[in-house]
Amino acid sequence: MENSILILKKLKKINLIILLILSNITLANISIENTPIPGGIAVVDFQSNHSNPKAFYSAVPVYTQHIKDQHWQALIGIPLLAKVGEKYITIKGFSTKKITFTVHQHDYKEQHITLTGKKKKYVSPNLKHMNRIKREHPILSKTRKLFSKKLLFNGRFIRPVKGVITSPFGLKRFYNGQPRRSHTGLDFSGNIGTLIHAPANGKVILIGHFFFNGNTVFIDHGQGLISVYIHMNKHLVKQGQLVKQGDKIGTIGQTGRATGPHLHWGVYLNQTAVNPNLLLSEILH
Ligand SMILES: [Zn+2]
Repeated sequence: MENSILILKKLKKINLIILLILSNITLANISIENTPIPGGIAVVDFQSNHSNPKAFYSAVPVYTQHIKDQHWQALIGIPLLAKVGEKYITIKGFSTKKITFTVHQHDYKEQHITLTGKKKKYVSPNLKHMNRIKREHPILSKTRKLFSKKLLFNGRFIRPVKGVITSPFGLKRFYNGQPRRSHTGLDFSGNIGTLIHAPANGKVILIGHFFFNGNTVFIDHGQGLISVYIHMNKHLVKQGQLVKQGDKIGTIGQTGRATGPHLHWGVYLNQTAVNPNLLLSEILH
């Protein structure tokens, strides 16, 4: 009798361990909608017997997740400037294979911004500013290129601030009539000093003050999924610090190329700016 109770207890323990392992696998996955448009995320399914297959898009490693048995998924960030049509990813496991997917047309709106007075330097930077931009460029691009192994992830992002969205993702921008890079993030309005929270667990990989971005924080969420917070007033985290979802990371400001106090929130996947809305459980307008 005692023996059977012991076996039962052991079985319960094994069940609990299996449940814990399973829940960890589920936690590590991001369930997002397939949005194969420029600035979107293509969700591409593939089969592999390998325990850790790798996927690449234009030679850049992409986020992969295990769904069930041999079923895997790649999450591919599509550049805003990508041409529509058929694309492919390369899967490397026990063998190498190509999986194709199609990028569809999407038209983003135009936005015209006027910068006056001191802020004019952000449209026509002088030599000193140009040198600073050149110096900062490799630091920022190196940070966006980081690809670390999977960190603890909770499946969905929460919004970093409560403010309303003043500029959506993807707007074709014109500064004082001159075409510039499209808007690569979401802008939230907010008063200077409003707290900004980490949308998901991650590691702070860069803190700095940059010409265009002003006070900036980058967070690595693993496998090339990186989020960035710019124009901040203050940052409340240190480089290398691990953050949990909801932790305070800084406050809203107006530093760098900002016409008013707001948070610009950007999300990168495989070195590509994607619409942060796609990672939130609610779509923000
Ligand atoms: Zn912005």
